[in-house]
Parts: sequence; structure tokens; C-alpha cells
Amino acid sequence: MAAAAGGGGGGGSGGSLAARSSPAAVQATNDDATASKLSCVNKGYMKDDYVHFFVRRTTKRAPIINRGYYARWSVLRKLLRQFLSAGNGSNDQKRKQILSLGAGFDTAFFQLQDEGIAPYLYVELDFKEVTSKKAAIINHYSEMKEKLGSEASISIEKGEVTSAHYKLFSADIRDIPNLDSVIQRAEMDTSLPTFIIAECVLIYLDPNSTDAIVSWASDKFSTAIFFLYEQIHPDDAFGEQMIINLESRGCPLLGINATPTLSHKEKLFLDHGWQRSVAWDMLKIYNDFIDSEERRRIERLELFDEFEEWHMMQEHYCVAYGINDAEGLFDDFGFKE
Ligand code: SAH
Repeated sequence: MAAAAGGGGGGGSGGSLAARSSPAAVQATNDDATASKLSCVNKGYMKDDYVHFFVRRTTKRAPIINRGYYARWSVLRKLLRQFLSAGNGSNDQKRKQILSLGAGFDTAFFQLQDEGIAPYLYVELDFKEVTSKKAAIINHYSEMKEKLGSEASISIEKGEVTSAHYKLFSADIRDIPNLDSVIQRAEMDTSLPTFIIAECVLIYLDPNSTDAIVSWASDKFSTAIFFLYEQIHPDDAFGEQMIINLESRGCPLLGINATPTLSHKEKLFLDHGWQRSVAWDMLKIYNDFIDSEERRRIERLELFDEFEEWHMMQEHYCVAYGINDAEGLFDDFGFKE
């Protein structure tokens, strides 16, 4: 999200883009996201009792960045709630799963548990460098560790946490055969309704890997939502700057030219096995999907006058989701104005 703001400096020329993508730089986008989430929490945009454990030095972000992260958090939260409550009975979340790809330091499991709506199983994957740090922090803070129950086992060395309802594993999500074994080790039940999260992740991968992951998920999970949040529109002035900024940080958006528009994001799902798909940009999501009461509340938190920049920035991020609905659970799922 901070991509469009600040930064600068050319990405240099020569050499393939992929060769200039550094895993450490992509992992650093997670630290950036975490610091921005904490900035939002400190300003009262949203509640997260855990994110501060993952940030060494608290930073204040500009109002436009706070609002952008709030919108990102809020849309995922609203769609997750729809998913968790889909079905006929009460406690429908008890037979559901969430799989987060490139989860970073996201704390959604702990928040959902506090709200009493955590699913039966929540599985997170990321590179070992990231999952090791996450495992160490969960292990260190009793506020988090206690949430996992007495049976929990944590290995910082392996970057693993296993507990009854929450599992963290290290995996390179581009390695599809390994994805199969990881979800087996995590004891996911592929017949259960599953929500797959890829928040600011797939866009850093080469397009063939993204295609393979999206196909794999469709093959595995017949009742599922695949959620992605990422950049669009590389071709206008704002988009070009966004790309230069990320390239210069060593994390080029390797996927953006394969899916540069909303209709390309929808097609990504339809071409790789998903029954339905929808993509909206974040400007429309902010204006038409996020609860208007919440919007009014957060708009009072800080002085805000960067309207032109806000519109441009939000037009360059989107949410797209694919739906597989073998069970017929998701008729009412998704964006509504
Ligand atoms: N989803 C989180 C973090 C986003 S940052 C959030 O939105 O807050 C992107 C994350 O994807 C980083 O933690 C990075 O390590 C992870 N990632 C990128 N490529 C990956 C890969 N091939 N396998 C596993 N994780 C990957």
C-alpha cells in the first residue's frame, strides 16, 4: 500500500525482472504492512490486540496510508464474516477452514477467536524466515500462546506452530507438490468449505506460479472462496510510478502485466477452474461495500485532504475472488452495493 507513496529511484535497466526480485525484499513488505496496521490501530481505525507484538518501532503513517490499510482490512473482514456465517445453522464457522498463503504477521486468527467466530481450522503459510519469527513471537507472548490451548506445539527452528485450531507452516507456495503435503500435514479437510486468502502475495510471483496456485486450489477445494487483494493498472502515470517504486525496493510486481485490469483478475479464476468470479477496485469497495457507518466513523479520525491522491491510489488496488460452490453455500456471498 505504501508502494505509491514515497520511494522513487529507477529500478535500473537490464537483467530480467524476475532476477531482480529478492525474497528478502518481498518479505520486507510484510514488515511494512505490519507497521502500517499498527499505525491504524493506534489511531483507532481498527482493533487488533496482537499486531504490536510484531513491530519493533512504532511509526505513524500518513492519513491516506491509514485509510488505505483500513479499507484493505475492512473488506477482507467483511467477506470473511460472510463466509463464516454462510449456511443454515448457528455456529456454522465450526465446519469451515481458512488457508492463508503468504500470511506474513497477520493476526486474524487471534482476532476471530476473541470474537468467538474462529473457524474449525486456520492454516497459515509463508517463507521460513517469516514463519520462524512469527512462531518465536507467538511463543514469547502469553497473550498469544494461551489462545492456542495446552496442546500447542511451537518450533521456532522449523517455523512451525501446531495446535487444535491454528497451524503455521513454512512453505514456498510456488512449490505445488509441497502445498499438497503441507495441507495434509495441517490436516485440512478438502471437503469442508474453505476460504483461501492471498493478500498482497500472488502479484509478487511469476504469472505461471500464480496460475498453478489458483488451479491447484480449485482442484482441491470444491466449496471455497479464493480471495486476493493486489495492485492493478500498471499502465497510467500513477501505475508506472507504483511499479518503479517497488522495483527499486527489490520486489517487482512480477504478476501485474498478466492481470492488469479487473476483468483480467476475474478471468484468472475462470480460466483456472473456478465457477464464478468477481473483481472490484478499492475505490468502489470503499464507497459502495464498506459499511457507511464505519466509513463515517473512520473519516472523523484524522484531518484528510488528499482526495485526488486517494482516488487514484484506490483505483490501483483491487479485491478479486473466485467461488466454487459444490455445496450451494455461497448464493448470498460477495460484494453488494
Ligand atoms: N498477507 C500478509 C502479508 C503480505 S506481505 C498481509 O497482507 O499482511 C507478502 C508476504 O508473502 C510476505 O510475508 C512474503 O514472505 C510472502 N511470500 C511471498 N512469496 C512467497 C512464496 N513464494 N511462498 C511463501 N510466502 C511468500
